[in-house]
Amino acid sequence: MARDFPQKTNGYVLHVGRYGEADKLVTLYTQDRGRITCIAKGAYKSKQRFVNKLEPYSHLCLFYQTPRTPSGLFFLQEAELLQSHLPLRQDSRRYLAASHFSELILKFTQEQDPEPALYQLLAWTLAQLSQASVPLKISAFSQVHLLSVLGYQPNLQTCGRCHQPVTPPSTYLLLPGNGTLLCSNCDAQASLTMRLSVQTIRTLDRVQSTSFERLPRLQLTPQGVLEALNGLHNYLLHLLQHDIHSWQLLHQLAHNQAIAASTGHCK
Ligand SMILES: [Zn+2]
Repeated sequence: MARDFPQKTNGYVLHVGRYGEADKLVTLYTQDRGRITCIAKGAYKSKQRFVNKLEPYSHLCLFYQTPRTPSGLFFLQEAELLQSHLPLRQDSRRYLAASHFSELILKFTQEQDPEPALYQLLAWTLAQLSQASVPLKISAFSQVHLLSVLGYQPNLQTCGRCHQPVTPPSTYLLLPGNGTLLCSNCDAQASLTMRLSVQTIRTLDRVQSTSFERLPRLQLTPQGVLEALNGLHNYLLHLLQHDIHSWQLLHQLAHNQAIAASTGHCK
């Protein structure tokens, strides 16, 4: 079948599935078109064209054809590998954090709805998750920025009910319904396990206004990471109204790291 000249854009692989015997179905978040799903013909058979390229979290330069029908698939003609992000597929902690973040991107985006800030956040997140010594901290920070990009930035400065500033010794719940805090003075009955400490909230608040270059320098203890991930998960779950499948394993990892740190077996 004759095809037009391909178009070109850069993108990150979010998901790779099989399509029939020989083809791959690849979902990417691209610079020019946002999320798209492409068919890569012969990707399981042809060893040359796509070898080692169509892997989760790879950064690619794509040559593609647009779908012939509105609900059709993009046709991936060729891909150049820009960055493989290999550590994300070799280290289970990095892999879990990357899978979780890409699941969020897949669930919060529509096909062909490009958002430059989201592309930039994804680029930063995958690069950091590949190299940072504490991937789960990066995971929490990325989720805070994701909420801002999506327009759901939480208010982390005052209790949403009594309007008192965040101050010790209070602890706080991040209310999923509206992204505000509830202090322990306002609701002493609320779940203890979901509470965030003042230190964690202050860090997350600082994350919201910190540039990508400076973000990795912000510190958060393993316990703080666990609190942050729990609070963010509840909020994201409420926004999505849909299960986040990669959460269980990510949560288990954050929980184990917090326990290890508290018993002095910090990695
Ligand atoms: Zn209050």
